Amino acid sequence: MNSSKYIILGGGMVAGYAAKELVKQGLGPGELTIISADDALPYERPPLSKGFLAGKDKEADILINAQEWYAQQKIGINLKTLVQDVDLKKRSLRTSSGESFGFENLLIATGARARKLDSPGNDLHNVFYLRSLDDSRNIRDNAASARRAAVIGGGFIGMEVASVLAQKDIETTLIVREDRVWSRVFTPTMSKFFEQYYASRGVRILKEETVVRLEGKERVNAVALSSGTQVTCDMVIAGVGAAPVTEIFANTGLEIENGIVVNEYLETNQPGVFAAGDVASYYDKIFNKRRRVEHWDNAVSQGQHWASVVRGDRQAFVHVPYFFSDIFDLSYELWGDLQGATETVVRGDANSPSFSVWWLNGDQLIAAFVMNRPDEERQLAPEWIKSKRHLSRESLADQNRPLSEVK
Ligand SMILES: Cc1cc2nc3c(=O)[nH]c(=O)nc-3n(C[C@H](O)[C@H](O)[C@H](O)COP(=O)(O)OP(=O)(O)OC[C@H]3O[C@@H](n4cnc5c(N)ncnc54)[C@H](O)[C@@H]3O)c2cc1C
Repeated sequence: MNSSKYIILGGGMVAGYAAKELVKQGLGPGELTIISADDALPYERPPLSKGFLAGKDKEADILINAQEWYAQQKIGINLKTLVQDVDLKKRSLRTSSGESFGFENLLIATGARARKLDSPGNDLHNVFYLRSLDDSRNIRDNAASARRAAVIGGGFIGMEVASVLAQKDIETTLIVREDRVWSRVFTPTMSKFFEQYYASRGVRILKEETVVRLEGKERVNAVALSSGTQVTCDMVIAGVGAAPVTEIFANTGLEIENGIVVNEYLETNQPGVFAAGDVASYYDKIFNKRRRVEHWDNAVSQGQHWASVVRGDRQAFVHVPYFFSDIFDLSYELWGDLQGATETVVRGDANSPSFSVWWLNGDQLIAAFVMNRPDEERQLAPEWIKSKRHLSRESLADQNRPLSEVK
């Protein structure tokens, strides 16, 4: 059996950043092993629906650490290696090829997987989901000869993919179940802005539609919708959510509820076993609630935090949830938690690509969206959310008052 002090199970974003941080903190040779079902070294996932999908980034551009770095640091990295059995009492993992790995400390970083459509025809060729580098490469290769694409799902993955395909001059239809895009996160004002922006760039958005069937013999050639509309297409990309990868931990004694349950130190209920990133349901000390975050910054920060905790700095993970997205020529950021908001305030002009939205619970700031606004707005948003700042609605809504002067 191979044994190491630390094992990271899952070679995604958490693994890349956790390894980097461990090295910074003095990792010894041979102390870390990463085991990954993926066939690529840990990479940044956001470019898969942006620059990499568009053909601007190459594979080497999106690696978190250069290929040679792992050997230089004497980190064992096992790609294309699927862990099938986990025995936390014996402190060992077994792979599908029967190999065993022992550990003192385990970081579970198995991430999430894309949810699949359950409509008839979902096994046709040219129906894609987007999670891995391979998925992105396949979509990109097929998009090269596509004339029409149907993108299913009005969340951030659907919106980003639709924006990349439209910029490749592919006739793109975005199919949304709800009555507006990303209704789970966006206010009606924000959805309206983005819908108009997409329409002005040639994306057709069909709302309040569910997929009844995917049509075609071998390859998909149309999506049949609940209203009776048929969307003709050469390819379908579905961005209909993700689910945490937890099934191999079912009989291990770990508490699992919407992910692997960890406390504010990212510790599970089993000694020396941690979880981080998309798979971890952690205790958020700012909002006093349990949450699981499927975003880049959470994976980076929790990976780094785990490294500090296991190197002896046992501090709570206290972090404002954060998300960013790039679509067409726009970039935006969002901090905080919208739940419990009693009102929102817009600064700037929500009919233009330069505005921010501020969510208040009573007079406490709980979340903010910022796009093309003065730098102080993106600097103060996370600070004020973390410090539970109280603000007057009128003062915040005063367009002539810089944010730093809002009381
Ligand atoms: C297309 C796309 C675009 C995104 N864009 C943004 C964005 O713009 N902004 C943003 O904030 N966030 C974005 N995200 C989210 C962000 O990338 C994720 O939150 C992040 O990748 C989570 O990191 P992770 O390490 O937890 O999981 P992952 O990066 O998914 O890594 C999980 C790893 O575990 C491995 N694994 C799973 N099970 C096993 C097993 N049994 N044995 C061995 N290995 C296993 C997998 O192969 C994989 O390597 C995007 C995600 C995707 C998919």
